[in-house]
Order: sequence, then C-alpha cells, then structure tokens
Amino acid sequence: MQKRILGRTGWAVSVIGFGAIKLPRIGFKECERILNRSLDARINFIDTADCYGDSEEKIGQALKKRRKEFYLSTKIDERDGRGVRQKLERCLSRLKTDWIDLVLFHDVRGSEYEKIFNAGGLEELEKARQEGKISHVGISIHGSIPMMRQAIESGGFSVLMVAYSAIDEDRLTADLLPMAAAKGVGVIAMKPLAGGRLAKFPARGWDYQLFKAESPAQLALRYVLSNPHIKCAIPGMMTLNELEENLKVGERPRELSAAEIKKFMAKAGEAGKGFCRNCGYCLPCPEGIAIPDVFRYESYYRHYGLKDWAQSQYGSLPVNAEDCSDCQQCLDKCPYGVLIPSNLKTAHKILMES
Ligand code: SF4
Ligand code: SF4
Repeated sequence: MQKRILGRTGWAVSVIGFGAIKLPRIGFKECERILNRSLDARINFIDTADCYGDSEEKIGQALKKRRKEFYLSTKIDERDGRGVRQKLERCLSRLKTDWIDLVLFHDVRGSEYEKIFNAGGLEELEKARQEGKISHVGISIHGSIPMMRQAIESGGFSVLMVAYSAIDEDRLTADLLPMAAAKGVGVIAMKPLAGGRLAKFPARGWDYQLFKAESPAQLALRYVLSNPHIKCAIPGMMTLNELEENLKVGERPRELSAAEIKKFMAKAGEAGKGFCRNCGYCLPCPEGIAIPDVFRYESYYRHYGLKDWAQSQYGSLPVNAEDCSDCQQCLDKCPYGVLIPSNLKTAHKILMES
C-alpha cells in the first residue's frame, strides 16, 4: 500500500483510507470483516464521525485489539469548549480507546468558524492534546474556499478535510492545495467518488481497454491521488468488493495517461451536471433557505443511510425548503447547473418522510 506523509502530523498514511460513514448500514459481523481486512491490507487510516450513527461503536468493538495498527480519526459537531469536551469523552468511550489520533471540527460553516476560536472549542482540544487524549486537531469544510484558506493560515489545524473529486477539483487546485502543503497542513479528500456518482457510469461507453480494465471508481480514485497534495482519499465503504476494488488503486499505483484523463474527465463532467458541490455560491436566498445544507442532508439520507440524523438536522434548520418562493434568483448563481427550486421540493419530501 502506497503511503504519503500527512502534513505536520508526520504520519505516513495509506493513500486509501477507510471512510466509515456507511458502517451504520451493515451488521456488526460484516463491519468486523471489512475493517479487519482493511488493516490486513495495510490501510492505516480510519475516519468516522460522532454523527455517523453507530459507526464509532462498531469500529471500537471490532478493532479494540488492533488499536495500535492504525490512525483513528473522528469528527465532532460542537464548537464551544463544554460541548467539545462532552462529545470527545463520548467518542473515546464509543471507540473503546484511550486516545484518538485526529479529531476534526466537522463541517464548519459560516460564523461557526469564529466560534471554534472564541467559544473555547479549539482550546479544549488543545487541553485534550496535552492530556494525551488526542494527537492532532483538524477541520472539515465542505463549501467555503475563503474559510479553508483562513483555516490553513490560522496555524490551528494539522489537517484539512475537503470534498475533492474529479467533478469538483477545479475549485481547489489553483492555489489552495499548494498553500496547505507549504503550511504543513495535510489534506484528506472526502467524497472522492462524489457520493457514488463517479462509481456508477453506465458500462456502455466505458473504454476498458484505454482504462486498463479498471472500473470508474478506480479511475476516480486514481484521479484524486494524481494530485500530490492529496495525502489520503477516504471513500466510504461497506462491502468487501468495494474494499478490494479500492485497495488495488493504493497497492498498484500507476500514472494515468493524458488520453485516459481526457476521456475520464469528459465522463465525470457528464456525471457532475446538476450535482450540488455544497459550494454556497447560490446564497443568500431571499427566503433564508440554507440551500447547500438541504442538499447535503438529502445526500446523507439517500446515499449514506443516515436517515435519522439527516432528518433531525433538516428539522432544526430555521427555514425549510418548502418556503422556496421559486424566485429563481439562485439559478444563475449556481455554476453547476443544479435545478435548485425543483430539487429542493424533492429534498423536502424525502427529508420529511416518516
Ligand atoms: S428560487 Fe427558492 S431557493 Fe432559489 S433563491 Fe428563490 S426562494 Fe431561494
Ligand atoms: S446549489 Fe449550486 S451553487 Fe448552491 S451549493 Fe449547490 S452547487 Fe453550489
């Protein structure tokens, strides 16, 4: 398994990490099997989150005897000192461990960023670091490029986790990733398969000969890893087939040819049409709808099986998608052609299902 150094952590992490977001969708025995096989195959980075259903518990139970064989990363949604400490203690208990290698502030948005600094969240994690309960602090940001820049420059975070795949790489590559590298911030790519969109091209038209008999998912991962500033990609996995497919990418590195990249990017471009990248360019909405949040909760509901969490997050939004007045102001602002008003209706229906 190929390894890369994750910024200032100094850790040599496997280029394919285990994204544990889908573990709530399978039983414990299957979790045990897939997690153990991952470690046997030299995956040494496992990423979960406090809000991923019972993912933390399953990892803790399945790997408690192999804890020293991998870097464990989890994410918390709290921003203030008290909340961060409560969640951290819960993570440690669920994960059945005395220490967590990396704790990230999860999906930071808007004014939450300042809160991390002003309401004691970062300070609390620093205390936990001194107590030996965690090793490094990171941040995951889904949308705002200026916030990513700020986080890199702040010096407060060793790791930045971003959604990065062939369909949204243009937003990040120009200067952000080199800047992170120069500042010693390790970048991890979440959603490298764009929530599964890049793994499911129709077989017809897929050029197996050109792509060396590799699948769309493998090409998508190779594409992400062809950027040297990405140190680890964490596709969500729940079957051994997915794992074996992804493993081959890390075990047998190869450079994509120009012809492969051209053809693959054309396919990715088609797949990316109308897909919300959570960039936030469509905001503000005059009705106050948090458009990217709504689509993200819908995606968590549909693709990752986090139904209860997605519905409760959606329910806590001050304005819901039903309040869209169809003014169409957002349509011109979205660079990715998302049919926002009609997609909001669909998302609302799904997220209100009982
Ligand atoms: S169409 Fe709906 S979502 Fe878009 S800006 Fe208008 S009210 Fe907001
Ligand atoms: S709807 Fe378009 S502009 Fe708005 S967050 Fe999604 S991709 Fe970005």
